[in-house]
Amino acid sequence: MAQLATVGGLAAVSRLYRTKPWGYGDQPEFINAAALLDTALGPRELLNALQQIETRLGRRPTHRWGPRVIDLDILYYADVRINEPDLIIPHPRLLERRFALVPLADIDPRYRDAAARLGYSAQSGECTALMFDESDQLIGRVRRLVAAFEETDLVRLRVSEEGDDAIELRRAPRGTNLAGPPDAERAIAPGQAREPAALEVIKANLVGIVHLNKPVPVPGARLEDDRELAYVEALGIRNPVNSRGSGRLVAVLVSDGEAVEYGQPLFEIERV
Ligand code: ADP
Ligand code: MG
Repeated sequence: MAQLATVGGLAAVSRLYRTKPWGYGDQPEFINAAALLDTALGPRELLNALQQIETRLGRRPTHRWGPRVIDLDILYYADVRINEPDLIIPHPRLLERRFALVPLADIDPRYRDAAARLGYSAQSGECTALMFDESDQLIGRVRRLVAAFEETDLVRLRVSEEGDDAIELRRAPRGTNLAGPPDAERAIAPGQAREPAALEVIKANLVGIVHLNKPVPVPGARLEDDRELAYVEALGIRNPVNSRGSGRLVAVLVSDGEAVEYGQPLFEIERV
């Protein structure tokens, strides 16, 4: 959809439908959707643009009806009719293809009757259109993870199945410092006569394994400016932990290679 938005205005986008493959059965399910595009490109220019997007998204030639990362078809173009060997508009098989018609009916009421005639949920042998919903355990789990991610100040969430593609969400960087919450909390160590207002606790920004940077930060060390003290490795990603300014390192609260929790205190720094 983001790519389509580069060739025109996205006026409407259907829901996503999971559909069983047809034509060639031994392949994963497809995901189908329809979009209404408001574009200045003519039909042929549009076809070229769509094919470029397919290539950019990684589509490689395969046998017809075989698995593909993306397939962009023109279902119709205003009321234009074209019948050439490499471009037929409206799409000749639109009215037979439930997987195209059902998403289209989402965004264009003129196709609702035709979609209903093919049977929204009846098994016609061609495909089964299923909307994504919470009854799909995996999708429900991903949704819950994303919702949880939004409530924290974590910067990245990566969801993957073993040996499979991953999806990764990233939060827009706050300034240049991804090391943690900007509003560093103050800690008052009991029984210590430190000036509390000057002590800052640097906490782990993710759940993972902490690695202390070389030279290993030791208590008493002076820190010039913003320095990377350590990083937390989580899901193969290196998440730097910075000193967030100059000061004197008062305490190193973890050891190299230790598993840390989100928010666990790692360093105490006295601001000078
Ligand atoms: P399909 O979309 O049928 O699964 P392809 O994506 O491989 O198969 O398309 C094969 C050819 O269909 C394309 O090279 C294109 O020239 C042609 N074609 C004809 N009409 C259209 C249309 N309306 N939209 C997209 N491609 C079309
Ligand atoms: Mg196609």
